[in-house]
Amino acid sequence: MSNSKGAEKTNITGCVFNIERFAIRDGPGIRTTVFLKGCPLRCLWCSNPESMQPHPQLFHFVHLCTRCYRCVKACPNGATRVGPEGAIEIDRSLCKNCGECVDACPNKAREMSGKIMTVEEVLEEVKKDSLFYQNSGGGITASGGEPTHQPEFLWHLFAKSHESAIHTCLDTCGYVKTETLQGILEHTDLVLYDIKHMDPARHKELTGVDNSLILENARVVAASRPMTIRVPLIPGYNDSEENLNALSKFMAELGLKRIDLLPYHALGKQKYERLGMEYKLGDLESYESEQVAAIKTVLESYGLEVGVG
Ligand code: SF4
Ligand code: SF4
Repeated sequence: MSNSKGAEKTNITGCVFNIERFAIRDGPGIRTTVFLKGCPLRCLWCSNPESMQPHPQLFHFVHLCTRCYRCVKACPNGATRVGPEGAIEIDRSLCKNCGECVDACPNKAREMSGKIMTVEEVLEEVKKDSLFYQNSGGGITASGGEPTHQPEFLWHLFAKSHESAIHTCLDTCGYVKTETLQGILEHTDLVLYDIKHMDPARHKELTGVDNSLILENARVVAASRPMTIRVPLIPGYNDSEENLNALSKFMAELGLKRIDLLPYHALGKQKYERLGMEYKLGDLESYESEQVAAIKTVLESYGLEVGVG
């Protein structure tokens, strides 16, 4: 990350997999949410599996494929081939995500997720809605993946946003070197901070890492910036009363009141197939609205202000 205080370097590039305009759930007001690729966690329920790797990745939409085999001819790496039954197969270990097959496919059965963009290019998109930010108290939100996984790009994006008087909000899992996080906080107005589980061992089972760095960084953020805790609520995984109680105690220690719940949905499940990945939660059912309401009531009984996203 840059040690300079100015934001003069704007030719820095990042890998962006989505820019969502008119977002209303990623911080105050009307916002533009920029989704950056790359994440150090592997949450079992992740609804954006294309966000895990830091580079562009190939999506394959089987239902659009007419088996014309143009992609087989186009692939310079032998990664796309015809399987025994005539269906297209992709050997992901050979795929270099070059995108040649995307250009060759006449049916849009292939698509690259992730685009290399400069800070200026992203800002150009963000600034399109400046008027809405002013009128609603909105701004830019960096999400992912884990946006701090591209720290220099993020730092400059936020620094340049501040130069244009745009409010900045960081949506983070908190698994980042404390020093790196502190640098990014220089140009961060609000932090949405994900906590997946309070128990270190269970956290590791569910996400691939334990939560000690995350909880330590939460203390650092709470001491320096406005902060909202966000919890992806996963049925049977992190919604026990014991975990909710531990979470509320931790929030009391940090002097925080606001918590947003993000109830599980399986909308990202099909993306796993398109990326040739395994979805580990199988047919886990979403919550009924009464179940979420009951969890909200438990948290409110601890004195928390609870939002449901
Ligand atoms: S992205 Fe490139 S390497 Fe991967 S299957 Fe397509 S053409 Fe082959
Ligand atoms: S080019 Fe497109 S439609 Fe043709 S076989 Fe490949 S993925 Fe299927």
